[in-house]
Amino acid sequence: MRIDAIELFHVRMPLLEPWRTAYGEDAAAETVLARIAGDGATAWAESTPLAAPTYSPEWAGGVFAVARDWFAPALVGQRVGEPADVQTLLAHFKGNPFAKGLFDAACWMLTAELARRPLHELLGGARTPVEVGADFGVRDSIGDLLAAVAGAQAAGFTRVKLKIRRGWDLNVLRAVRQEFPALRIHVDCNGGYTLADMELLCRLDDFALAMIEQPLDGDDLVDHAHLQQQIRTPICLDESITSPRRAELAIELGSCRVINIKPGRVGGLTPALEILAAAREAGLDCWVGGMLESAIGARMNLALATCAGFTYPADLFPSARFFAQDLARPALEFDTPTSSAPGGEATAPPAAPSMTPLEVPGTGAAPDAERLEAWTVARACVSR
Ligand SMILES: [Mg+2]
Repeated sequence: MRIDAIELFHVRMPLLEPWRTAYGEDAAAETVLARIAGDGATAWAESTPLAAPTYSPEWAGGVFAVARDWFAPALVGQRVGEPADVQTLLAHFKGNPFAKGLFDAACWMLTAELARRPLHELLGGARTPVEVGADFGVRDSIGDLLAAVAGAQAAGFTRVKLKIRRGWDLNVLRAVRQEFPALRIHVDCNGGYTLADMELLCRLDDFALAMIEQPLDGDDLVDHAHLQQQIRTPICLDESITSPRRAELAIELGSCRVINIKPGRVGGLTPALEILAAAREAGLDCWVGGMLESAIGARMNLALATCAGFTYPADLFPSARFFAQDLARPALEFDTPTSSAPGGEATAPPAAPSMTPLEVPGTGAAPDAERLEAWTVARACVSR
């Protein structure tokens, strides 16, 4: 196919409540959308860094600028045989995986549209339900968190992820583990610790955690390898894995036993599949993570999560978890409602919450025109 035009949108999506992690607080989710046109068809894709360069060195305003000034001009007018060609066409530009991932995803979506096939099928997945987990950021109080975890357990979630940071770590885990002795729990540190915290990190072994996600800084592959030798709990890397090469290095060094794969962070769906294949070959577990995407990006993540090799419930959320209104339609929902019948007596525990891709070309998601208009803070169009 030939890429005729790319429209770009930098969008600020209001969140229901601020999202608090080790790196701070986000009051709104910022995202970048691309509408790609080629061979008479159009398709939407999304890449969602945060508003500030806190999770990664990239941020929404920067992704929009590099996409507009460098990447879109390098792609418009080019013939693309398969989505992987985008990586070749952009290979001379350094870094910027979220921005590259936007165009990689756009080409997958346009390919799916032209072939009239669902994205999950093109990626090698199947239309199967994907089990999802519950996530909790830093809360106002431990009591508040315990109530939220109880709600997740009652709703059938088989794994719960807790964001921890200094001052909200061992004390929180002690309380949660005491209340929920058998629940599958993992913690996400968002790189908030260093090897100077070795004593604290070793004590995390006491809580029978499924994994410790990104305990150290994203650059610290060697330190993660040292830490993994000291603790029993598997380390899961998130921020550290920004490309297939970084995944290879992490595997070789023994920096982790699990990888959280987010297509944006690694440069798109193509590198995500490469990392999945390398991890499977090395015997590592993988699961699909997410940023604060609209239903466009979240449905792409859902399609990816149907691929064989993802062995742990995904970070996929119904739109209503973060947004009063999702930027895109159809909003993401669980396969079956999770709340118990009002006034009804508890019977069998509910099935674990899951999501299933739609059987439509691409993913079926597109922005709601009015919300896109209202929430766009910058737009650009690059055409031939
Ligand atoms: Mg994480």
